[in-house]
Amino acid sequence: MYSNNFKMKKKVKPFIERSGDWFCFNCKNLNFAFRVVCNRCHISKAESLRINEKDELNKKKNEE
Ligand SMILES: [Zn+2]
Repeated sequence: MYSNNFKMKKKVKPFIERSGDWFCFNCKNLNFAFRVVCNRCHISKAESLRINEKDELNKKKNEE
């Protein structure tokens, strides 16, 4: 059962690739860890995370 749980955990965050790479929630681009702004749309990493938080809130509203 432990191995099953591990697989599920991996599926929850498919955009976390390796060692600090980060996913831009504005343009869906995966950026290398050393980038401070998105390689494609040039918003900051913090800005991208803020967009993701809004997304999560909208999802929760839709589910209810
Ligand atoms: Zn972007």
